[in-house]
Parts: sequence; C-alpha cells; structure tokens
Amino acid sequence: MVKNVLMSLTKETKKRIYQILSEIKDPEIPVINIVELGIIKEVELNNGILEVSITPTYSGCPAMHAIKSEIVSRLKSENYYSVVVKINYSPAWTTDFMTQEAKEKLKNYGIAPPKELNRETCIPISLEAVECPFCGSSHTELKSRFGSTACKSFYYCKNCLQLFEHFKSF
Ligand SMILES: [Zn+2]
Repeated sequence: MVKNVLMSLTKETKKRIYQILSEIKDPEIPVINIVELGIIKEVELNNGILEVSITPTYSGCPAMHAIKSEIVSRLKSENYYSVVVKINYSPAWTTDFMTQEAKEKLKNYGIAPPKELNRETCIPISLEAVECPFCGSSHTELKSRFGSTACKSFYYCKNCLQLFEHFKSF
C-alpha cells in the first residue's frame, strides 16, 4: 500500500483534496456537498499532518459528527493517513457561505433556499415572502418555524397548494 506522505501542499494536491471533500454530501440534504455548503474553511499541512478546518453550520448540529468522521475516512481511503479535522467557530457559519450553485440545487430539490443576509444585522436583505420552490409564487405562508430539522421551517404555497421546507437564513 502506498501512503500519501505529504511534504508540501501543492496547488494540485489541495485541488485533489477539495475534490475528495466535494464527494461528501450533507447528510441532511443529500443533493449538496460539504464544499458547496461552505463549511470547509481551510485545508493546510502542518508538520506532515493534513489539517481540515470546518465551520459547523450551527452549534450542536448533530450532522457535524458524521461529517467529521466521513472526512477522515474518505481521505484515508485515498491514502491520506495523517488527517485531523479541526472545528472552527469563528467567524460563525451563515447561510451566505453556501454557494449560489448549492442554493440552486436546494430549490430543485424542493427546498426554498436561504436568502442573502445583510452583513451587519444578519437579517435577510429582501423582506419579500419566501418563494415556493415548485411554482415560484410568493403567495406563501409560514406554517411552522421548525421543519424536519431545526435549520428549516415549513411553508405552505397558496398558489400550488404544496407544503415545502425553507432553509432558514441565519
Ligand atoms: Zn407553489
């Protein structure tokens, strides 16, 4: 077995690492990978140890433990043995860390994506209603502050009469 002992982190290696990381899906939203989700803060090499810093989506998110061990085992399967995953809380993750592509995928998956936040107030810039991911109507109403997970809420579309989830902006 050939171990990938890293002496330095070249651009190509870093790119490869990100490629491997992008194969890991968010356990709660399987259409989005963790790179698109914006939780990978940094990939560094420190004394031969590959350090992956991640920013949890929100404190106490149970999916983080699963993601952490998935990162280690996925990199090990690509022969990167010396790996540590560091949890970074500052700056805190906000839904703005999510790539535009990820928001698009959420919508196609039937979840209304989070809105862009005002950097200072952390309140969504647009106060318009949450758009229905199925028909695009703004004629929607909040049904429940909590959906299948704490980071989502339930909405009802009065136009196409569908219940859908909205990934809260925070
Ligand atoms: Zn609708």
